[in-house]
Amino acid sequence: MTDRSNTPPLRAVRIEAKCPVCGKIGTAQYRPFCTKRCADIDLGRWLKEGYRVPAEEAPSEDESEAPPGSSRQDR
Ligand SMILES: [Zn+2]
Repeated sequence: MTDRSNTPPLRAVRIEAKCPVCGKIGTAQYRPFCTKRCADIDLGRWLKEGYRVPAEEAPSEDESEAPPGSSRQDR
């Protein structure tokens, strides 16, 4: 089985995105970051926080709003 068409489409950012690290306008080379350094910093930040792609997090219907801080505690 080849789940090649199962990959979620990445958001193509073509507009001038500001560097999430320092806030400067990102360059085309290190988009959305301005420099490799900033990209590295952000990458490290993600890794540190346990970067995960929100795949199964679809807010379908906010019928019941669980109080923050006791429901989901799995990591
Ligand atoms: Zn930057």
